[in-house]
Amino acid sequence: MRQLVAGNWKMNGTSAALGEIEAVAKSLADKPASCDVLICPPATLIARAAAAAKNRVPIGGQDCHAEASGAFTGDVSAEMLRDAGATAVIVGHSERRQYHGETDAIVAAKAKAAWRAGLIAIICIGETEAQRLAGHALNICESQIDGSLPGDMTAANTAIAYEPVWAIGTGRTPTNAEIVEVHDHIRRCLAKRCGKQGENTRILYGGSVKPSNAREILALKNVGGALVGGASLKATDFEAIFRSSSRNS
Ligand code: PEP
Repeated sequence: MRQLVAGNWKMNGTSAALGEIEAVAKSLADKPASCDVLICPPATLIARAAAAAKNRVPIGGQDCHAEASGAFTGDVSAEMLRDAGATAVIVGHSERRQYHGETDAIVAAKAKAAWRAGLIAIICIGETEAQRLAGHALNICESQIDGSLPGDMTAANTAIAYEPVWAIGTGRTPTNAEIVEVHDHIRRCLAKRCGKQGENTRILYGGSVKPSNAREILALKNVGGALVGGASLKATDFEAIFRSSSRNS
C-alpha cells in the first residue's frame, strides 16, 4: 500500500486557513504525490475544505460520535462528516483520550461508526512518558490495539497511528530504533489479531514530524506514513513532509 501522510489541524483554522488547502491542492495538481495525502481540519471547515480541495486532497474529521444521530449535543456523527465531504476520521487521539476520557471501548465504537459511514478510521494509540520510562511502551500499545481495534477491520478501511504521547507537540521524537521496535510490535499484534488484513494495514508514526525529520522517519521499516500535527498547518511544511515519502508501506 502507498504510505499515508495525514495532517491533523486540531482546534486550529478558520476560513482564512482554506488557502493552505488550496495550496496543497495546487501542488498535487502540478505534481502527484507518491503517497496518499489527507488533511483533517476542524469540523467547521470540512465542507469548505472539501470544496477548496477540488477532489485533489482528501479531507478527514478529527473525531466522531459512535451513534449516527440523536440527542448528543455538540457531537458530530461519522455520517455527518461523510455528508460534509470527509473520507476518513481520526479516532482515539491521545488528546481525546486525555481530555474527554475516551476509553478503548469508546474508540472501538467510533471506529465501527467510521466504517458504517464509509470512512477510513485512523485509530491512535501510544504510551505516555511515564509508561515508557517504566518499560511498558509495547504492552500499552498492544492493549490499546486489543481494546480499540475491532477485529473485523480491513487494511483498506483502517490505519493505526502510533503516537507516543510525550512526542506530540513537544519537538521530541523517539530514536529510529525505538520507532522501529514499536512499529514491529504493532505489526505482530495486528497480524495476530487480524491475519492478512493486519499484515497489510498502514501503521503511521505521529509525534513532532517535521520537514527536517520526515524523510528519515518515513524510510523506517513498518512505517506506513505519518500523522502530522503542528507542521501540517502550513502548506509548504506539509508539502515538504509528504514529498519525503518515497516508498510503499
Ligand atoms: C498530532 O496531533 O497527532 C501530532 C502528532 O502533533 P505534532 O505533529 O504537532 O506533534
